[in-house]
Amino acid sequence: MQDKCGIVGAYSHNKSHNISREIYYGLYALQHRGQESAGISAHNGKEMRTYRGMGLVCDVFNNGNIEGLEGNVGIGHVRYSTTGKSQIQNSQPFISKFDMGSIAIAHNGDIINSMELRRELEEEGRKFLSSTDSEVICHLLTKEYSKTQDMVESIKNVSQKLIGSYSLVLLVNDDLMVVRDPIGIKPLSLGEREGTTIVASETVAFDVVGANYVRDVEPGEILVINDEIKSFKIPRNPGTPRAHCMFEYVYFARPDSILDGRVVYNVRKNIGKYLCKEHPVDADVVMPVPDSAITAAIGYSRASGIPYGEGLIKNRYIGRTFIMPTQEERETSVKLKMNPIRSELEGKSIVLVDDSIVRGTTSKSLVKVLREAGVKEIHLRIGSPPIISPCYYGIAMATKKELIAADQAVEEIRKTLGVDSLGYLSIESLVKCIGIEGDNLCLGCLTGDYPTELPANLDEYESCRC
Ligand code: AMP
Repeated sequence: MQDKCGIVGAYSHNKSHNISREIYYGLYALQHRGQESAGISAHNGKEMRTYRGMGLVCDVFNNGNIEGLEGNVGIGHVRYSTTGKSQIQNSQPFISKFDMGSIAIAHNGDIINSMELRRELEEEGRKFLSSTDSEVICHLLTKEYSKTQDMVESIKNVSQKLIGSYSLVLLVNDDLMVVRDPIGIKPLSLGEREGTTIVASETVAFDVVGANYVRDVEPGEILVINDEIKSFKIPRNPGTPRAHCMFEYVYFARPDSILDGRVVYNVRKNIGKYLCKEHPVDADVVMPVPDSAITAAIGYSRASGIPYGEGLIKNRYIGRTFIMPTQEERETSVKLKMNPIRSELEGKSIVLVDDSIVRGTTSKSLVKVLREAGVKEIHLRIGSPPIISPCYYGIAMATKKELIAADQAVEEIRKTLGVDSLGYLSIESLVKCIGIEGDNLCLGCLTGDYPTELPANLDEYESCRC
């Protein structure tokens, strides 16, 4: 399973202020969005400098060493990639020269038609240094710029060619430019702190540098940020709904973030409440699969009156990337990740809350661990509806045939997992919990209906190149 990326951009009106420090801390706050590589580009009024590396933000920047990246404007990126593509060439920001100077780009999202676009560019003689779709965007922008001599016009024109999700921060010489795709699949927020403008995938990046959340970047909005902020709109068909990713609320974003005006923590508490309404059960204790399901489990416990408790302790030093190639190793990895507290579990009937089931590996392994620890009954409650179809916009969960709910009904899944009862949240309730109309959410992985065209050749399509 792959995660998505995190981006930050910042501009200080004080030309002698070094903004890279804020970008570094912002990336630190977004570490959950990608742990494979990190990078920062900054412009000091004369030149653009970039540093990128493989690994966690604190390792890449050696615990906050941002020497050489001085500048009052910059962008940053954390990335998660698929196995095999975890290479320095694919880390971001991606940098390039063009007619008017230098451009750096950091992208969160997935461009579905990037292979066709890349092929066209290669046929024109353009050379690629990475296998990312972000480089495709960069080539398209510089090509367009050579015709229009106007970066905002170029962004508008290029966006007409892109199918998929993209939240972008661009450093175009010493201007910060920000783009959110016209249907707003990926989050992107705008913040402010005395003379500093900051944009980030999640508002937690503002909290860490003492900036205030101002608003979300609107779907289809382009911001040009220098001594003033100018806003432009990507032309789109009137009435096109938005398509915010539901999985950000269910699993991906930090609970202390605000996404499109919704506090993720409240959404997850509601998820627990609605799970209890839809799937009540008599049990001794409500327990989360830590950490991602803690808030939903609290919601379930409060709504049901069943006490909340901990039965599994997570090893915090194992990241989300801890994925093993064989099933046996995957099961061991669950044991390394989660350890049961036998005294809290023995002879108990538990409501076990998790945020999602993708392949079913985690639930199956946990059930084994819990049974071995003496649990009497396991009532599994899942904070999302069944995931039946892949994501083409950056959360590469699994292929369709790997998804346990793609061809199994709930009762079959219950038997496969070996639990006493199983309840998934309904789509209707999920939409209520998020508080955004269903028409304005991307529910593609739950329904198989996607908010954009899909590529003709899905087999050729490889996900998560952000
Ligand atoms: P699985 O074991 O394949 O059923 O995956 C489900 C578990 O992985 C749940 O406990 C989730 O918290 C977690 N999860 C869900 N989506 C992702 C993702 N995109 N990347 C990493 N972990 C995930």
